[in-house]
Amino acid sequence: MYFKNNKFFIEKIESLKIVKKYGTPTYCYSLNKLKKNIENFQSSFKSINPLICFSVKSNNNLQILKEIKRSGMGADVVSKGEMIQALKAGISPNKIVFSGVGKNTEELKFAIEKKILLINAESKSEIIEIERLARLKKSIVNIGLRLNPNIDARTLKKISTGKHEDKFGLTEINFLNVLNNFKDSKFLNIKCLSVHIGSQITDYKPYSKMINVLDDMINKSNHVFDYIDLGGGMGVQYKKKTKSFNYKKYNSIIENFLKKHKVKIIFEPGRSIIANSAVLLTQIIYIKNTNKKSFVILDAAMNDLMRPALYGSYHGVIPLLKNNKKNKKIHDFVGPICETTDKFLSIKGFQNLKEKDFIAISDVGAYGMSLSSNYNLRPKPVEVMVDKKSTKIILRRQKLLNII
Ligand SMILES: *Cc1c(COP(=O)(O)O)cnc(C)c1O
Repeated sequence: MYFKNNKFFIEKIESLKIVKKYGTPTYCYSLNKLKKNIENFQSSFKSINPLICFSVKSNNNLQILKEIKRSGMGADVVSKGEMIQALKAGISPNKIVFSGVGKNTEELKFAIEKKILLINAESKSEIIEIERLARLKKSIVNIGLRLNPNIDARTLKKISTGKHEDKFGLTEINFLNVLNNFKDSKFLNIKCLSVHIGSQITDYKPYSKMINVLDDMINKSNHVFDYIDLGGGMGVQYKKKTKSFNYKKYNSIIENFLKKHKVKIIFEPGRSIIANSAVLLTQIIYIKNTNKKSFVILDAAMNDLMRPALYGSYHGVIPLLKNNKKNKKIHDFVGPICETTDKFLSIKGFQNLKEKDFIAISDVGAYGMSLSSNYNLRPKPVEVMVDKKSTKIILRRQKLLNII
């Protein structure tokens, strides 16, 4: 994605052509960017030969999952719906892991029937339930135990998952208890130790601590795990000044860990694979000026992209046509929804804007469309994939007819 003659391009297509063809708001992905991200991730960890399971909750578009499958990756799912979607995309059950603190009986039954690689359990009650179902079906179920390593991922508080105050995983004591109680079960095979300490982590140090805790835990547990599932969480550069994640360093830490433990590593990346492959194209409906501010009212809203309203997260804003004329006012880019948090960005100074101009909101591929809703009875946007000179719809725009 780049500017040429002041026009914003996605691969070889001028973005203004895309909004003319598909309207707004529109999620627009670059296939090339997605492929590059996958390649980068795979090559960063080539030396440890991991199983990489794409986190479907970050983006559940079927065409994108088919691309994930083509690349050889598996899937990390958190619901029956996501499991069905991953299977529909052709991802093999033996590359699917199932995470989440509240998997219900129906979801667990389905996972057992499909013989997925691992159910990563997060509480004693859940393990009792899995064992009960396995006994009923007279089958042996492969499970992982998710450890809460009590580590501060130093990310946004609302997307931290690895501290004792967070609801996820088993504390060290509970982990060891559960392991002792169930390691001889005839119906459960405890194959994996899993962790996931949070999201948008840009520093390798929390991971380094996490690996130390795992090392410790394996030694204490005296159990042979086939897999260590390290979760996802690698951060991306929503802002230019954010330093990029040091994959080399993380890989070498894991290499050292593998010298001590002969296990297969699993990753569950979402954001790092898909976030920067998409923009949300939107049109300015009105501009409302006050003494202090210029409210730029867009046709995209928090129902289309909830991250800023939900976590206060940052997404850049890009004009589809650059004009190099400055307006020094504070600009609030907002949506039409009746909530004060329906605001994408507030920045001091932007280029001159007019009503009906078009804007791109950047890096929306992860937790963008997958978090969208019909709040205010607004239909969800269309998703479009750009591949060099061509565009195609990968999910149709919802019709009012179908939501009313
Ligand atoms: C959300 C989630 C992920 C993916 O996190 P990213 O930050 O998108 O890489 C991986 N594993 C689990 C268990 C998750 O809940």
